[in-house]
Amino acid sequence: MIDSYKHKGLRKQLIETLKSKGISDENVLRAIEKIPRHFFLDSTFQNHAYEDKAFPIGSGQTISQPYTVAFQSELLQIKKRDKVLEVGTGSGYQACVLLELGAIVYTIERQRNLFMKTKNFLPSIAYQPKMFFGDGYKGLPAFAPFDKIIVTAGAPDIPDMLLEQLKPGGIMVIPVGASDVQHMISITKNLQGEIIRREHGTFRFVPLLENKADDK
Ligand code: SAH
Repeated sequence: MIDSYKHKGLRKQLIETLKSKGISDENVLRAIEKIPRHFFLDSTFQNHAYEDKAFPIGSGQTISQPYTVAFQSELLQIKKRDKVLEVGTGSGYQACVLLELGAIVYTIERQRNLFMKTKNFLPSIAYQPKMFFGDGYKGLPAFAPFDKIIVTAGAPDIPDMLLEQLKPGGIMVIPVGASDVQHMISITKNLQGEIIRREHGTFRFVPLLENKADDK
């Protein structure tokens, strides 16, 4: 896989697009400018990797639109060494953005095929999040608590187990909605353990499925 000057140029243009849509966090923009998104796409879609669009990644799933990745990453306010849980590894692209921001990343995926593909692929481009196969609806209790939690699939509700695994002072970002449109919600747990919830507009995600670690 080659990261050519053309790809780098297209990424610069993508950064301008993201800025014009309101993304301002320099660290997030730098991470997206650095990571070759075309590596994460099947050859059919590689020429479109730097359009601000979601694309299929197999197993009926999608890599999120760059704007959505940037928006969720910005809301998380990642600090170096933050311990972050991502639910929905998918292509691994969002996990790499979090790694570039200096986070220690735990990511979980319920589709066996996708999990295996991404687990093999990421180390080949020198990204090493901690990857788990299983139902992320339940989080990763053995590794909790987390400074930050990001859910990258549309959730019917806010899973209690994820809230429990968020540190006091922590932030969770999760798209919530029963239909195919979700509201982006950021949740802050203050030091007294109280929950403060904010809404940030509508997005479209593939569904977060509960109780299904899928071996197909
Ligand atoms: N963050 C990904 C986006 C993946 S799309 C990326 O950067 O490419 C959402 C992913 O969530 C899909 O791969 C889907 O299989 C996964 N998913 C859905 N429900 C899940 C669950 N309960 N636990 C873990 N992963 C889940």
